[in-house]
Amino acid sequence: MEAPHVGQVTKAGPIFAKAPVSVYQRGRKTLDMHVVVCTLFPELFEPFLREGLMGKAIERGVIRVDLLHIRAFSNNKHNRVDDVPYGGGPGMVMKPEPLSDCIRAAREICPGAPVAYLSPQGPLLTQRRVEEISRMEGIILLNGRYEGIDERVIARYVDEEISIGDYVLYGGELGSMVILEAITRLLPEGLGNRDSLSEESMENGRLEYPQYTRPPVFEGMEVPEVLISGHHARIARWRRKQGLLRTIRKRPDLIEKYPLTPEETELLEDPDT
Ligand code: SAM
Repeated sequence: MEAPHVGQVTKAGPIFAKAPVSVYQRGRKTLDMHVVVCTLFPELFEPFLREGLMGKAIERGVIRVDLLHIRAFSNNKHNRVDDVPYGGGPGMVMKPEPLSDCIRAAREICPGAPVAYLSPQGPLLTQRRVEEISRMEGIILLNGRYEGIDERVIARYVDEEISIGDYVLYGGELGSMVILEAITRLLPEGLGNRDSLSEESMENGRLEYPQYTRPPVFEGMEVPEVLISGHHARIARWRRKQGLLRTIRKRPDLIEKYPLTPEETELLEDPDT
């Protein structure tokens, strides 16, 4: 049977099969990155992995994503994956056995890959961490639901926890998609236009300059004159200064973390830029 591919929403065998529900891979033998996602909701990923630049990256074989359905690893009659918490309290907790079996299967598909558990209790995901992950060969993303997962799975199987923000979601899947998209953009060939990366927000702890496109006047607001001057050096300096100014205004925490350099101070004080 031909491997399922992008554009094909597959249910390769019964949904509870102990194999990836969908294997998103195409063409190339050498991949830059291999991600295995352990989730109770593999279908959530299907449109996400098919569309836009993410879909194109998969299509070109820049990244391979396998989706493992945690419920496939439940070995009880009703395919239950959750149970009441010991000690009482609201909600349900994900049972350890289906999780550990699912992780073991993920490790077989992607040997040597660390297991990252999406959790509001982990350190916040940063561009720096995204860069580190994008340099790895593979990663297993474990997604919780309900009140979370049995602590013993974290103790035995999880290498790191990652939070995508100081708020609580129903599940880790949106976090996994955030990681998938953020790392894919950084992979060689993961972005249509490589130049886009170098000046982007968060690069070197600074936000990107404001962007404008046609028309030159929109609802009475004009595009800054310098941008239509055709003077590349002036444009570059103006953009740097604007990026700095908006970092100071919108994200003073970044300035505290990465203080202004003498050259940046000079740029800020330059009345002609
Ligand atoms: N009771 C848990 C606690 O207070 O830490 C929260 C459980 S949450 C409702 C269910 C699942 O959503 C978690 O197991 C985790 O996988 C995911 N999740 C929720 N918020 C998240 C966040 N900010 N970042 C990453 N994953 C998150």
